[in-house]
Amino acid sequence: MRNKSIVREIGKKLEEANNILITSHIRPDWDAVGSVLGLGLALQENGKKVQMVLADRLPEKFQYLPGSEQIKTPDSNDYDLSIVLDCSDFLRVGDALQEEQPDVNIDHHITNLKFARLNLVEPRSAATSMMLTECFPFWGLDISQPVATALMSGILGDTLGFRTSNTSPKVLRLCASLMEKGANLAKLYEFILIQNSFEAANYWGMGLQKIQRNGKIVWTTLTLEDRKKALYPGNDDADLINILSAINHYEIAIVFIEQKTGRIKVSWRAKPGWNVAKVALKFGGGGHPAAAGAEIAGTLEEVQQQVLQMTNELLTSENYSSYN
Ligand code: 5GP
Ligand code: MN
Repeated sequence: MRNKSIVREIGKKLEEANNILITSHIRPDWDAVGSVLGLGLALQENGKKVQMVLADRLPEKFQYLPGSEQIKTPDSNDYDLSIVLDCSDFLRVGDALQEEQPDVNIDHHITNLKFARLNLVEPRSAATSMMLTECFPFWGLDISQPVATALMSGILGDTLGFRTSNTSPKVLRLCASLMEKGANLAKLYEFILIQNSFEAANYWGMGLQKIQRNGKIVWTTLTLEDRKKALYPGNDDADLINILSAINHYEIAIVFIEQKTGRIKVSWRAKPGWNVAKVALKFGGGGHPAAAGAEIAGTLEEVQQQVLQMTNELLTSENYSSYN
């Protein structure tokens, strides 16, 4: 932890508060859910009243995590401390919070806009769940088995199973300590990174049939029609981006996912050395140098054209070596 004084200030707020609301971003991933549950359950075990709220209904796969049944969609909120986790801009909270400025933001995105009263932001950290694992001793919070399971899930999700370049010795040491607290690495790894549904595999097939390449970019699209044909229930890419980014000889992979809102969700993944968060930020999104996203208004064709052009500009920019 680089910022010990903010860690301590947050600890003081946690101690003083009795009714704490914890939230994260729309279209939640394992780090969003893992960090909300990890902190939420640990505070409950310390006698605090905790509400865990996400703007989107929790996708079914997260029911695997103990305590996930407590995560609710927004209600009329009554609380004395609000905490936003793993979220780099306030818009991504959706309608989970009604106030103008939340109290605390804990996050690891390089594009973080520091929108809360207290911001603990560590872009070098591999996951928000990892930041929490490091903070707990400072806050006097113990790690029970359900808490360890939640935090390990967040770290596994964001590091793609310890494969990303920010997987440091510290990440592995913290995960070893979570295993000692009862997190089952092999089971979580299998469930989070390997298993997927028949529908998701079918949906991948639709995207894989259409893959295209242009210079150093490989990309594909997923339409609402594809989703319907595959009977895929989510509004995401079912992690197809991980398959695209495994194709060798291409620097950047992109998936365009048509949304019911008339907008297009875009996911970028880059090989080390490029910063796709810069491109995502230009479209109002954000993320990490190697993994970023945005939701952009327009038709599939329009968004595809604009995004490919901007991404090509990044690839041809002279600043290559300074990006990382
Ligand atoms: P994904 O492509 O898996 O949705 O997201 C990759 C990374 O970019 C994640 O860290 C995610 O939180 C971030 N991200 C994705 N979409 C958005 C967005 O619309 N806005 C911001 N600020 N970050 C995003
Ligand atoms: Mn994260």
